[in-house]
Amino acid sequence: MQNFTPPFCPNPECQYHVDPRGWRFWRWGHYTRTWPRVRRVPRYRCSHCRRTFSRQTFQTTYWLRRSELLHTIAERLVAGSGLRQIARSLGCSPGTVATHAARLGRHSLLFLMAHRPRSAPPEPIVIDGFESFAFSQYYPLHLNLAVGAESHFVYGITESELRRKGRMTPEQRERRSSEERAVGRPDPKAIEKGVLALLEDVVPEGGSAVIRSDEHRAYPRSIRRVRNRRLRHEVTSSKAARTHANPLFPVNRQDLMLRHCGSNHRRETIAFSKLRASVIERGYLQAVFMNYCKSFSEKRQDATPAQRLGLTSAKLSWRDVLRQRLHAARMGMGDLHERYYRRQVATRRIPQMRRHELRYAF
Ligand SMILES: [Zn+2]
Repeated sequence: MQNFTPPFCPNPECQYHVDPRGWRFWRWGHYTRTWPRVRRVPRYRCSHCRRTFSRQTFQTTYWLRRSELLHTIAERLVAGSGLRQIARSLGCSPGTVATHAARLGRHSLLFLMAHRPRSAPPEPIVIDGFESFAFSQYYPLHLNLAVGAESHFVYGITESELRRKGRMTPEQRERRSSEERAVGRPDPKAIEKGVLALLEDVVPEGGSAVIRSDEHRAYPRSIRRVRNRRLRHEVTSSKAARTHANPLFPVNRQDLMLRHCGSNHRRETIAFSKLRASVIERGYLQAVFMNYCKSFSEKRQDATPAQRLGLTSAKLSWRDVLRQRLHAARMGMGDLHERYYRRQVATRRIPQMRRHELRYAF
């Protein structure tokens, strides 16, 4: 960081944000950070838009007061700890952990977009809906996952809000009706639409892919609606033995790991996510961990899925993943990722949820 030169103007509205060719800036003094240790941080000013910024503007810890905690919180979130447990052990508030978790989720979304294969996946894709809920068990959801059949790389995630189904006592049924009267019902086509968005996200236009799934009735409808891509669908019966040989093994294993590593998805947990947006953010965080940081086999300490695909040459640490801030406006996000990044995913019971619309730390 000693020879730091700002690579582009960090103001998303400035013409030198995306394309910095010909950009000029001035040194603009410095400010002193006192935490976690005293140091001078150089400031700069864009000669075009006149916005001032600092070296810190280009770091993932930008505007975080407890910046030294970011990578530790990432580690603990994928090691099965709840927000309060993390807060207690690090001596910070649960709110601080939640702020860091949201930042980590957004960074992971951008990191996956920046570092996944740009062309159509070079292997069959296994899709499945991972069942969980946000707020209460009356608000179930699916995280639709697309996982590489050979590499086990998680290519993409979308979310579908569902209606509570299955066996219920008469009281539970009554409660569901009263909740639905108050806040409405999810779109009955949510899975079809969520999987459609997932497929269009992971297979670029003009590309082709083999899609493997179980017999869920919405999937063929999603696949039929996909435009400008050639997809072949292979269905495996849910009665087939759930072994390594099962074509759906990569996604079954991912489901298992999501519950194993994330406290918010454990059965009977009290650490479940309160917001749909946090489920999505935690999903991306976990995908980045599984793709880039975790050996496929912990016992053998072998390659990560990203190494298997030749995307990285080594296993990454959280410090590697968090080394550089990714700027949303430079990524050319589509509607789907924009919605997830901005937290435009309403939790029905929390209408005044805070969206992510900060001007500077966006
Ligand atoms: Zn500028």
